[in-house]
Parts: sequence; C-alpha cells; structure tokens
Amino acid sequence: MKVAEAKEQVLEIAQKAYREKLMAGTSGNISLYLHEENKVVITPSSIDYLQMTVEDISVITLEGEILEGPHQPSSEWPMHTEIYKEFQESYALVHTHSPYATAFAVCGEEIPEILIEMKPFIGGDIKVAPFAPAGSVELGKVTAPYLKERKACLLANHGTMSIGKDLSSAYISSIYLEDAAKIYAFAKSVGKPIVLSSERGE
Ligand SMILES: [Zn+2]
Repeated sequence: MKVAEAKEQVLEIAQKAYREKLMAGTSGNISLYLHEENKVVITPSSIDYLQMTVEDISVITLEGEILEGPHQPSSEWPMHTEIYKEFQESYALVHTHSPYATAFAVCGEEIPEILIEMKPFIGGDIKVAPFAPAGSVELGKVTAPYLKERKACLLANHGTMSIGKDLSSAYISSIYLEDAAKIYAFAKSVGKPIVLSSERGE
C-alpha cells in the first residue's frame, strides 16, 4: 500500500469513528503501519476530526521521526509504535475513548464473552491492560501482550485499543467492543448476564 492511500484510509476511519461517537473532541487516534517502508501513518494531535483533511495526516517512523505532515502526530504515538515493534508486520490500530467500554476500563472490569460476535471480531472476552500514563512508551509495552491474544482490549482508566491486519478490521473490532460493553452494562442492570461457555456448545 502507498502512503497516499494509507492517509486516505486513516482519515476515513478517524471520521467514521468520530461520527459513531467512539471518541469525544480530539481524543482517540488511528494509525496504519507500513512495515516494509517503516512508516506509521497516524492522525495528528488536536485537530478537529470533521475539519481534518488528508494533508493533515502525519507520517512518522517507528522511532518517532516526523516524515510528513504539518502538525505534531497524535501525542499517543509512542503507544502505537511500541505495539507495532512487537508485531514486526504491517498492522492497523484504532484507539478510542468510547464511553461504555471506557466505563469498564475505569472500573478495571473485564467483559466476559456474552455475545456470539465477540469470538470472531474480538477473539473472546475483553481484558483490561494495566494502567500506564497516556503518551508513554510504557503504555504500548503493557498493552501489546493483550493484543497478541485478542483483537481488542481495554486500557485501564483510559479507553480501548483494537488491532487488525487492516484498518477496517481494527475499526470493526472497536465497534463490537463498544457494543458488547453497552449490552453488558444493560444486561447487568436487567439481571444476571449468562456467559457463553463451551458446555453450552457456544
Ligand atoms: Zn487515549
């Protein structure tokens, strides 16, 4: 994939995620790593998603050197690059502060496998990666192991992270994560949610 095409995809998914209310204000960030070129195409810092254009998208190396873009890259770029370093392949990341999922992240509470979509789109239940400060390399280091087991996880007291071989698949994981969190929250207020298990043949 060319950088120009990657920038268009990053912009498209970022605006879609904003419209879906997965992020408020300028929070959240989206990136795509082109392994062969050692280029991370990532949303810029503090730019209104609906005003954002392809020219605003940043391109950095895995080491954080700015290659393209008029703005600073997202302040959370070290989390993205640290995760990509663990995978050593082209991948995409979608980081949101989607409200229902983040509520569980704030409580440090895992979301069990309660819906059939969770297996194909997330890989099973949703775990909470330990807290590390926003924008830190450490946040990437503590999150990466969770993304090796699942396509998405919660970041304690912060938000969500989803990974995919391409941006559409990382994005759809973040949508199903928020959906599962919302339904689990409703289910807990209605009664006692039943977790899917192998005994039930599910
Ligand atoms: Zn964040």
